Amino acid sequence: QKFVYDFTEGNKDLKDLLGGKGANLAEMTNLRLPVPPGFTITTEACKVYLATGEEPAALRDEVSAHLDALERHMGKRLGQADDPLLVSVRSGAKFSMPGMMDTVLNIGLSDESVAGLARQSGDERFAWDSYRRLIQMFGKTVLGVDGELFEEELEAAKAAKQVTVDTDLDAADLKSLVQSFKKIVESRAGRAFPQDPREQMDLAVKAVFESWNGDRAKLYRRQERIPGDLGTAVNICSMVFGNLGPDSGTGVAFTRDPASGQQGVYGDYLQNAQGEDVVAGIRNTVPLADLERIDKTSYDRLMQIMETLENHYKDLCDIEFTIERGQLWMLQTRVGKRTAGAAFRIATQLVDQGLIDEAEALKRVTGAQLAQLMFPRFDEEARGELLGRGIAASPGAAVGKAVFDSYTAVKWSRSGERVILIRRETNPDDLDGMIAAEGILTSRGGKTSHAAVVARGMGKTCVCGAEELDVDTKRRRMTVGGRVIEEGDLVSIDGSTGKVYLGEVPVVPSPVVEYFEGRMHAGAEDAGELVAAVHRIMAYADRVRRLRVRANADSAEDALRARRFGAQGIGLCRTEHMFLGERREMVERLILADTDDERTTALEQLLPLQRKDFIELFEAMDGLPVTVRLLDPPLHEFLPDITELSVRVALAESREDHNENDLRLLQAVHRLHEQNPMLGLRGVRLGLVVPGLFAMQVRAIAEATAARIDAKGDPRAEIMIPLVGTVQELEIVREEAERVIAEVEAATGAELRLALGTMIELPRAALTAGQIAEAAEFFSFGTNDLTQTVWGFSRDDVEASFFTAYLEKGIFGVSPFETIDRDGVGALVRSAVAAGRATRPDLKLGVCGEHGGDPESVHFFHEVGLDYVSCSPFRIPVARLEAARAAA
Ligand code: PEP
Ligand code: MG
Repeated sequence: QKFVYDFTEGNKDLKDLLGGKGANLAEMTNLRLPVPPGFTITTEACKVYLATGEEPAALRDEVSAHLDALERHMGKRLGQADDPLLVSVRSGAKFSMPGMMDTVLNIGLSDESVAGLARQSGDERFAWDSYRRLIQMFGKTVLGVDGELFEEELEAAKAAKQVTVDTDLDAADLKSLVQSFKKIVESRAGRAFPQDPREQMDLAVKAVFESWNGDRAKLYRRQERIPGDLGTAVNICSMVFGNLGPDSGTGVAFTRDPASGQQGVYGDYLQNAQGEDVVAGIRNTVPLADLERIDKTSYDRLMQIMETLENHYKDLCDIEFTIERGQLWMLQTRVGKRTAGAAFRIATQLVDQGLIDEAEALKRVTGAQLAQLMFPRFDEEARGELLGRGIAASPGAAVGKAVFDSYTAVKWSRSGERVILIRRETNPDDLDGMIAAEGILTSRGGKTSHAAVVARGMGKTCVCGAEELDVDTKRRRMTVGGRVIEEGDLVSIDGSTGKVYLGEVPVVPSPVVEYFEGRMHAGAEDAGELVAAVHRIMAYADRVRRLRVRANADSAEDALRARRFGAQGIGLCRTEHMFLGERREMVERLILADTDDERTTALEQLLPLQRKDFIELFEAMDGLPVTVRLLDPPLHEFLPDITELSVRVALAESREDHNENDLRLLQAVHRLHEQNPMLGLRGVRLGLVVPGLFAMQVRAIAEATAARIDAKGDPRAEIMIPLVGTVQELEIVREEAERVIAEVEAATGAELRLALGTMIELPRAALTAGQIAEAAEFFSFGTNDLTQTVWGFSRDDVEASFFTAYLEKGIFGVSPFETIDRDGVGALVRSAVAAGRATRPDLKLGVCGEHGGDPESVHFFHEVGLDYVSCSPFRIPVARLEAARAAA
């Protein structure tokens, strides 16, 4: 097994092994772009280290061989006293985790070689500044010394000299800073700063390995659903310097605008600066376009390289580069993150440019991005008090209370408050606050600052670099033009325009929703490029997908909306939703009925109401299937609350005011009270013990169907029985239903063709699916109850009780109620599909649990061969898109 790859040996498809950064550095090297030479230690080596606590035995020799080759190539040795080769040691996982893991620059500097660097560069200040940066970074990330200590020392040095910026410190100042930094290391780390360059390098490599399991990295992975066992690669790259004077600098660039997708020159440049200065947003950068004025040769070369990269990767790329005394070097590239809107626009632009085809375009966008575009935005007409304006870094409209630190953000959001996290700039320590906040606002930093990059990745609203805001985190407030905003004051931020408002600004629906609703046409002038792009991508999606998409809807209104959103039927009409409000009392009367007469009367009252519901629903969905589920929830849900009723009865008793009805009601409530109602008298069990209930519902469906046929409609109802565990239950209900349908057919003369099927939402149903299919014409997987019963935890309680602990411990990365548990619940679905189809080859199969609208789960349902997924109306576009992505 080979643990080290030279940049000339890898390529962009080796991300698993070399990490994203390493694979792309290799790719650029092979494209003959100017990449400083170096090599990559694989993720496999990291995995061995993380598993055993030791590097693989062969690693040391392999690194030596590659280092030798690098030294020969560069004509100098690592840390060589008179002319040192310096290297950077950078983490680089398969998925980018901005700022989450460690990097150490300037490895190879020591008390000896700092002088050599000074002589070679002709710049003593530069050499000592590089050395103090090394000790600082090494001390913090490798030796675990509190970084604040170095910062304080640096501030003290500036204060002593009465200057404000680092660059005003001269060589002598930096030299004495190096001495203080070394003392800090020695006293805090219990060891001296290592002078041996190879030891520096080896320790830095280990620190990078270990940073994979740092708290920040773990939190980020959970948030982004990145598996915890991938490990990171380590890139060792010869140093180039952007801080060698005004003809040097460092920058980041995008081949297109990551916020809008527009082609052009986007990026930030910082003259006379090194490494992370730009991304950290510490000093204010200039727009990349200014580089043309500063250094035309490098600018032209960069533009040329960007074009090469776009054509090669066929996608938006982002780039980190450094200019060392007029020589341009590429330090990193990758397919860049982008906003949801940009993703759709770029995908269609690339199709138009002939770079990608429609199937590839579908892979370039996600359902999650589409969902983001469906968020509401601020009403532009609304007159919020404008506080200031920053950079529109990540779109959306966020309203919340101002908080100025992550701790408060987390605390307040836990108690249900919506907060906006306001910082001068963010750093990786702010991650949990950023997750907790509705939106992020900073007063410094550009589109590529930490806040902007991380927020975009999370799909969270962000405005950054709002320079008018004077943020005072210590006093928990900010001032804008004399106005003070305290912690807890409401602010609204618009991540699409960069505007910051005081107070709560009203929001309006997104144009994408307006489009889906049919209130805006893709070609219309005001629709804009975004709607046009979404329209095209959805058209590709509908051409490609195999899965049909239905809606969970219980009213004609929802059904019509679902239809506009592209629903191809209703997969679940929960009839219990038709018994709310005053109808609840009718069900109460049914439950309380002592005699057949009373029961019949109650059912006769319910029948016409149900029939009317169904007529409206079938009309709204004319020509499309409508799966109506018979009553499912425990009966006591239709009765008054036991405590309230007990109190009422007791009070009445004390007044000697006996209310017969309340007494009966109380008895019924007691009789029907269950410790575990979700495992009790519900679903098909109701149909079997409450005489006439299911028959009434079936009759209503049948008569509504007949009425629609009579009105020249095309009703396509399917009757679904919930919570079946054995085929016998289904057979009994089926016989009764067939009798009722036959009666209605005889009475109306209509041929109704009503399909009868069942939900598969209990493990036993899934395990005996072959038998159940004998009596069912279709299955619809109820993955909510199936998840609940397979795991044995209550869907109503767990999210609030132990799920947080489970997520923190990594037992699962995402709630199994949100994304289907492939290995457990999914395995049952898979085998039930096979068994069901074995019995009845034309068995129709769908899913109507919440998972039907979850992107990852949709891919699973495509894989196991379901015919359709059913989800809430609002998620239909997402399901259509993901069904296509699964098929593309
Ligand atoms: C299910 O259990 O997945 C389902 C769709 O039914 P309900 O959520 O109504 O129990
Ligand atoms: Mg259910």
